[in-house]
Amino acid sequence: MRISTEPFGEAAWLLRDPRLRARIAGVLVLVLLTSLTEGIGLVLLVPLLASISGGGIPPLLGSALAGLHLPIQLGPLLLVFVGVVLLRAIIQYSRVINGDKLSYAVADGLRIETLQLLLGADWRMLSAMRQSDNVNLLLTNPDRIRFAFDQIITGVAIMATLAATGLAAFALSPRVALVVMAAGVLVLIAYAGQRRRAVALGEALGAAYEQLFALVGENLGALRLIKSLHGEARVEDELRRTIRQQRSAELSFTRSAQIGQATLQVLSSVALALAVWIAVVQFGLAATVLLPLVALFARAMPLLSALQQCWQNWLHGVPALRETLALKERLLAAQEHASLASTPAPRLDHAIELEGVRFSHEGSDRPALSDVSLTLPARSFTALVGPSGAGKSTLADIVGGLISPDAGTVTVDGASIVGPMRRSWRESVAYVQQEPLLFHATIAENLRWAKSDADAATMQAALESASAQFVMGFEHGLETVVGDRGGRLSGGERQRIALARALLRNPALLILDEPTSSLDSASEAAICTAIEQLKGRITILLIAHRGSLTALADQIVTLDCGCIVDGLDTTSDN
Ligand code: ADP
Repeated sequence: MRISTEPFGEAAWLLRDPRLRARIAGVLVLVLLTSLTEGIGLVLLVPLLASISGGGIPPLLGSALAGLHLPIQLGPLLLVFVGVVLLRAIIQYSRVINGDKLSYAVADGLRIETLQLLLGADWRMLSAMRQSDNVNLLLTNPDRIRFAFDQIITGVAIMATLAATGLAAFALSPRVALVVMAAGVLVLIAYAGQRRRAVALGEALGAAYEQLFALVGENLGALRLIKSLHGEARVEDELRRTIRQQRSAELSFTRSAQIGQATLQVLSSVALALAVWIAVVQFGLAATVLLPLVALFARAMPLLSALQQCWQNWLHGVPALRETLALKERLLAAQEHASLASTPAPRLDHAIELEGVRFSHEGSDRPALSDVSLTLPARSFTALVGPSGAGKSTLADIVGGLISPDAGTVTVDGASIVGPMRRSWRESVAYVQQEPLLFHATIAENLRWAKSDADAATMQAALESASAQFVMGFEHGLETVVGDRGGRLSGGERQRIALARALLRNPALLILDEPTSSLDSASEAAICTAIEQLKGRITILLIAHRGSLTALADQIVTLDCGCIVDGLDTTSDN
């Protein structure tokens, strides 16, 4: 019979990190020392009882005590006993603290590594992911993995104590010890089915968490819409249902674990009764040996049950570890080139040129761009127009170096924007999106995202260039807190601060993605004034449906179904 096909292999990835390896070895040594001292403490009961009652000592133990020159007298034995217990307490303390530090290091390391990989992954992959899944994988999974990993440490500690208990029992009566050990192994084998169930319940819990994070993340980001559509009750219902699913997944596991524990306790007491019966009736053991033996078995019984529980808890956490490792693998395969330092960003003195560019989004059967060729002269203003879904944003992402085309070339002053060059080119590109993203912080802190060492004068100059002088009229000026996603400001104010932030980077290329489409006409006019002043100073690529900004463009390029259908040079008539 196969004892187990269960996935301890997942734990092997831990051993790949040399720092963790050293820590794991340290904790294992402490685990062994704790168990050793426990075993010694229990075995000492035999000479203690013998010194009181004058009974005999098993030969194996007798020769060990003689070797240590320990007299079979109550006083010295009690002193040694207290010393061993004290030593055990100190080792045990150190084991728990170091074990905790180790499992926190595992969880934190996993979080940081996954986040690093997410940040370093190509936009093509990131844009196709549901970010709430990643939040779940970054927040919940490492804690589940930490708990599971704790179970391995505890499980090893239990196994070591069980081994020490077994050895002590063996020293007292090898025959009885063997019978009880065989019974213990059989009990663990009998629980294989329940452990398999733990994996399935762990998977169900992962799915329930994923759903919960998606629901909370998406709905909190859409509170305005929910309120305007009177969707509060619907959201509440969905939340209740999802929470019920998650709780039911957790409770199913607890129920299964508790039934297992109760059954195991009954089975263990049957094994203990059997062992005592065999020891007394079959082997006729003396009381000095029988009593410590019973004490050893009474100690071992709950340990066996705890070992089964640890095993089951570990397996319950394995799906979380699998999910995280799978995500890490996918992210690793999608990493961008990291060697920024060696690749200076190309200058933009002549032109950005696209030649035969094709691009398809992941999972899409229709190309977003097919055979696009386009020239953006340096310091020119190009407007990309066309119906929704024509491929304008995709083209802007390619020009901005966020994604690379499936076929065709993108060059800046003749330098090909591929590999590390694409990443360094992004340093010279600034974006202003339709929905400006501000962080819940002061205006100054938001601006410093673009230039961390910007002083007040530099920020004010950027705000002026973006027609955002209104900030200086605020009571707290640059120190005004903008609220969640900039919610304490109007859409027009947010957009102009976002433009100032983009300008602070002193970009070679400024990409404007429908920046005025949701603004009132006064805000649109303010943005137009700002862009008009920038015209001729930096290269601008505007995505627009309509509006007065388009009228400022030097060339208007019309996209439809991923192809350029019309390129109009608006300066050629002049
Ligand atoms: P536009 O900006 O002109 O509205 P897009 O460049 O956003 O157009 O989209 C072009 C096409 O690519 C559309 O058919 C759109 O559905 C598809 N698309 C855009 N982003 C993604 C994505 N992340 N995954 C799959 N398809 C996408």
